[in-house]
Amino acid sequence: MSRSTDWTPSLWLDIFEELLYDDNELDYGDQWTLNFNYSQTDKVTKEERKRGWKVYCHCAYGNFRCATCNKTWPSARVVVLFRYRLRGDRGTVIMRPFGQSCRRCQDDEFDLPGFSQKEVEEALLRLFSKIRKNCYGDEDDRDDDGSSACSTKVWTKPHEASLCEACIMGICCQDDE
Ligand SMILES: [Zn+2]
Ligand SMILES: [Zn+2]
Repeated sequence: MSRSTDWTPSLWLDIFEELLYDDNELDYGDQWTLNFNYSQTDKVTKEERKRGWKVYCHCAYGNFRCATCNKTWPSARVVVLFRYRLRGDRGTVIMRPFGQSCRRCQDDEFDLPGFSQKEVEEALLRLFSKIRKNCYGDEDDRDDDGSSACSTKVWTKPHEASLCEACIMGICCQDDE
């Protein structure tokens, strides 16, 4: 279970609920829900901005498995894009994981990433700290930006932009090496 290569929305939903309702990460009395959308982009139109939408792009460590040849590979640059807004007492988060395609098959099929529980937690905690700041004006950011992003220092092959869906869409994590 520690090296999951399967995209598992239920894992995200479970940890989302756990962090909110057991750990009270967003303790403001509002109801937050997590949804998935596999085609959203990081563009927020003026109209959407007016309606309160914001985006947060997270870079995580994940594992992939090719649906065609079964080859697996790890990546330290898996992009997870969140859109979120608070309206009245309803908070909405819409998530999209970005895929990578198999180096061996080069078939333009993007496989979706699998994540460990710890990576999911880290991504969501980071998201919640953005929400506290941008939706509730909470300035004291518990975990400062930059410090723990991609904290899992694992050696992976150099990131190949042509195999990364996020790179192709121009929203991959900044190259900080
Ligand atoms: Zn393959
Ligand atoms: Zn990329």
